[in-house]
Amino acid sequence: MNRGPRSGLFCFVAVHSTARGPALGGCRIWRYDDTRAAMRDALRLSRAMTYKSAVAGLPLGGGKGVIMLPEPVDARRRKAALRDFGDTVDELRGKYVTAEDVGTSAKDMETIAEQTRFVTGLSRKRGGSGDPSPWTALGVEATIRASLERKLGSADPKGRTIVINGLGHVGAALAKLLAKAGAKLVVADIDRSKKQLADQLGARWVTPGKALTASADVFAPCALGGILDHESVPALQAPIVAGAANNQLADDAIADLLAERGILWAPDFVANAGGIINIAVELEDGGYDTGRARERVLAVGDTLRSVLDLAEAERTTPLAAAQALARTRLA
Ligand code: NAD
Repeated sequence: MNRGPRSGLFCFVAVHSTARGPALGGCRIWRYDDTRAAMRDALRLSRAMTYKSAVAGLPLGGGKGVIMLPEPVDARRRKAALRDFGDTVDELRGKYVTAEDVGTSAKDMETIAEQTRFVTGLSRKRGGSGDPSPWTALGVEATIRASLERKLGSADPKGRTIVINGLGHVGAALAKLLAKAGAKLVVADIDRSKKQLADQLGARWVTPGKALTASADVFAPCALGGILDHESVPALQAPIVAGAANNQLADDAIADLLAERGILWAPDFVANAGGIINIAVELEDGGYDTGRARERVLAVGDTLRSVLDLAEAERTTPLAAAQALARTRLA
């Protein structure tokens, strides 16, 4: 943890594991009540990154950055905070490599790159892989197809009702992919301005509260974490939950509750790995290539199939199976 000399804001970098390679994970800019909450978030998210990269078979460890906003800040102070964060990253000499996350963009990565070379997700113009969100969405779509195949017998989203909760960078890209594939969409967001996109895609707009209980084939959480808990899971109507949000389960025991209800839950760190898989292509010899990125990201569906096979064989939950797969790869 550093208190940035330019911005006065607290920056955190959590390195959970470097067993498979440098700890790669995005930089989140978010409002927290206190430094403990911000640090807890960075630690929790860094662990998820370790599992995510290990399950995806990437030569990367897990880390996460957080810039804590105590109150809304103006553009100048925000930029100063990004440069302070860049200094913090640089101090770690490559043990941690940053990227975009909630609250940051490819442009922000350019500001961070003024202070350190340990940054990915730069714009395509700068030789980077650009915004990871469409790639995350592509991986979530592959996960949804694999889940539909396993639970309902056919991978084709055509005619299936899919609820997307959160129409941000990933949710909007996912909605476009699924609309193109012929799915019937139900979408929700706390931001009503997102209704315009819903109308464009011919999607039904509901409130986030109604999204959970909508009758559907798939519920795709694409907002923030903790949406699946002891209250929401009993109310869920969809037989499949597969989405982009990180840390969807309020705690690990919720995976058992989902299994008891016969709901197929695609572990979040499997489903949302598309963005990091795309970024990992940026770090390969020969540099970034979209064709290679697409091939790798689509393999997220195969990773989920392996996780579900293992869960069935071991009579355990997809969460336990995915964690076991990650641990094997970390050993
Ligand atoms: P984003 O900030 O662009 O979008 C989040 C959207 O959710 C916003 O439109 C927001 O208004 C909405 N929202 C917030 N709270 C909500 C609620 N309670 N109910 C309904 N909607 C709500 O973020 P994003 O980049 O699209 O990421 C979405 C999720 O996916 C996050 O959990 C993120 O950590 C995870 N994720 C993103 C990526 C990526 O490539 N961007 C990669 C892996 C995981």
